[in-house]
Amino acid sequence: MADDNKPLNFIQQAISGDLGTGAITKIVTRFPPEPNGYLHIGHAKSICLNFGLAQQFGGNCHLRFDDTNPEKESEEYVQAIIKDVQWLGFQWHGEVRYASDYFDQFYAWAQHLVCEKKAYVCQLSSEEMRKNRGTLTAPGTNSPFRESSVEESLELLEKMKDGDVAEGSMTLRAKIDMASPNISLRDPVMYRIKKMPHHRAGDKWNIYPAYDFAHCLEDAIEGISHSVCTLEFTSNRPLYDWFINSLPVPSKPRQFEFGRLNLNYSVTSKRKLKQLVDGNYVDGWDDPRLPTISGLRRRGVPAVAVRNFCDSLAVAKTDGLVDLSQFEFFIRDELNKNAPRAMAVLHPLKVVITNLPEGHLEQLPAPCHHELQLGDRNLPFTREIYIDANDFKEEYSKKLNKKLSPGRRVRLRHCYVIEADDYLKNETGDVIQVNATLVSETLGKDPIDGIKPKGVVHWVSATNCVDCDVYLYDRLFSDPLPDSGDKDFLEMIEKESLKILTNCKAERSLADVEIGVPYQFEREGYFCKDSHSGDSKKIVFNQTIALRSSWTDILS
Ligand code: ATP
Ligand code: MG
Repeated sequence: MADDNKPLNFIQQAISGDLGTGAITKIVTRFPPEPNGYLHIGHAKSICLNFGLAQQFGGNCHLRFDDTNPEKESEEYVQAIIKDVQWLGFQWHGEVRYASDYFDQFYAWAQHLVCEKKAYVCQLSSEEMRKNRGTLTAPGTNSPFRESSVEESLELLEKMKDGDVAEGSMTLRAKIDMASPNISLRDPVMYRIKKMPHHRAGDKWNIYPAYDFAHCLEDAIEGISHSVCTLEFTSNRPLYDWFINSLPVPSKPRQFEFGRLNLNYSVTSKRKLKQLVDGNYVDGWDDPRLPTISGLRRRGVPAVAVRNFCDSLAVAKTDGLVDLSQFEFFIRDELNKNAPRAMAVLHPLKVVITNLPEGHLEQLPAPCHHELQLGDRNLPFTREIYIDANDFKEEYSKKLNKKLSPGRRVRLRHCYVIEADDYLKNETGDVIQVNATLVSETLGKDPIDGIKPKGVVHWVSATNCVDCDVYLYDRLFSDPLPDSGDKDFLEMIEKESLKILTNCKAERSLADVEIGVPYQFEREGYFCKDSHSGDSKKIVFNQTIALRSSWTDILS
């Protein structure tokens, strides 16, 4: 939702002007994904912008699939996109819409343009067409089929549609201007032959409309007032207007272009994301390292953090490269305020509290959040517990005076103070057990003998906890601009971007948490239960994000 105190961006200004002059009475925007992949963070910017404009100006926003190319599209992508838009928190006006529902109308309008001598069937091969197109400095050459009769073009168009001519042998082209300085206007292709069924339209069509022909008409059919797209379509705008002005369309939408969102250390192109998925470089479209909406969701990133980030970005007439740490700021900000707290030990070291009896069980209430009223959960406190191996040192040192070491004390978070006595090692020299003594009457109080511990450590009961694996994620790419210049982004993949910690121990209350809901594991970071943990016995927790950004972020 737009912030009322922010100055209006150029699209808001245009809308405000149109409403002010009465040129339009209600704004209608749309988010028009092609179902050829899953949505990514760049799409989130477009979604927040289009739905946000409609909300801000009391209009409607449509969700419309631009499903005009059956070669790369599928129902799986349609369903994934619907889920993602809803998860982001937006509800479109009316039904989900599909460009394929307008195919009959597109065809009728194509015939209309032929009848008006504004379109013709061209029998040049794509190679010949490319040669005739000219260059930025030289005009193109007219096609020899440009002056074909209306009857001939209508007949051939029908044949193309019915599948009676070979793929690649003909196209329908708009008759505009082969000498135009704008190459988009040099008799662009409107229909090409593709003898393949469509996932919604079935096998009715052997021709499919080009983006430039279809998109403006989809907008016009739906009464879109402001058609917002990304900058690469700027030079196509005169063509958009040409179709709108040459046809008896029910409304005259206008196109506005804004800068794409690019994030460093990421790729935001469905084609490249698909390569990562198809090549098994990642664990599907929802791999938590991907900047896909489904990946962010699986990782535990709250939808509100994605929206806040997108709303913070400038809507400008230049493409932007945004630092990943800027996105991470919004994730941490949200999680710090709202994620419930819990404890999990990622590198467990057993501590036996020798002055407690076998079978000791005490339920200690601990608040789920230090500020929000989220209630308490109970921590089962038992004779054997786990602390993190990093919180124990064999030798005391002043520098590490918050650690547990023989003869030294720490407070167990939300629990008592303990003092280490001695420890056991295995054959390879690793400490495998610490024996400690509970300092009595220290629940919520300092020790009576006045020797206060410096450190507070997290812990879980060893006999009443949840076994889990923890997946730690780093940036997927080692290079900040993995797909710039002539770099091969597949070569830039960070080998250590996923680190799996097995045999981690989480507090009991984390056994039944909802999938994808992030918790702060105290002192460790933010984590959520993975959606794929359902079928295996062991729970997997995905790291959403570390508690703090690393020094490299702060220094860069
Ligand atoms: P990709 O290159 O990832 O395939 P696309 O533009 O082809 O993206 P579409 O499904 O056609 O993907 O996009 C739907 C809408 O989202 C379009 O209006 C498009 O302009 C917008 N969009 C896509 N990528 C970005 C981005 N990185 N930043 C902002 N908007 C984007
Ligand atoms: Mg596209």
